[in-house]
Amino acid sequence: MNKDCNCTPNQSIKCTVSNCAHHCQDSQYCGLSSIQVGTHETNPTKVECTDCESFKLK
Ligand code: SF4
Repeated sequence: MNKDCNCTPNQSIKCTVSNCAHHCQDSQYCGLSSIQVGTHETNPTKVECTDCESFKLK
């Protein structure tokens, strides 16, 4: 019935990126035990400059 029940929400990593394969669809959490955050800018100055580098397309 619930094909995403094997995703254990990590209460320490809130996430709303439902397109990501690691996202727990029924809750706004990531299912990984840890994630890598990085930047695509040489001099990041705002939130848009940061990325979840653990993102994987569903
Ligand atoms: S890997 Fe990153 S983008 Fe994907 S669910 Fe986890 S925190 Fe969200």
